[in-house]
Amino acid sequence: MIKFSVRDITSKGLEINQTIPMEGIGLSSEEIDLRSPITVKANIERVDNTIIAHTKISADYGYMCARCLEDFHDRHEDEYHFDFEVTPDRQDIELGEEIRQEMIMANLPRILCKSDCKGICFGCGVNLNHEKCKCK
Ligand SMILES: [Zn+2]
Ligand SMILES: [Zn+2]
Repeated sequence: MIKFSVRDITSKGLEINQTIPMEGIGLSSEEIDLRSPITVKANIERVDNTIIAHTKISADYGYMCARCLEDFHDRHEDEYHFDFEVTPDRQDIELGEEIRQEMIMANLPRILCKSDCKGICFGCGVNLNHEKCKCK
């Protein structure tokens, strides 16, 4: 849960700095392979009846290289902006669900361990990043 109340947003805005486990925003390891808790930094401001949350999410993501099929991980920070409308019956805002959806959408299905990954030889099956091709 990353929850705040509309009342907490002062004229200077509101800052949120929180580190939560992935389950804290309802993410499961089948959805995203995370290797660390999620760090959420948000700057929240109110402009008339709109609340804007400038949010930075950082975590260590696990991947399987699309070329050599090796497991690797990469820590990166992503920026998202969320808008919420203030209505009389909306006094508490939950950022976690928005973050969960963005993280799932942004999760790359196809990624390389490094841009010049040499991949696997189709002949002998060795990982060409570590070994020489054994094909004759
Ligand atoms: Zn690779
Ligand atoms: Zn080979």
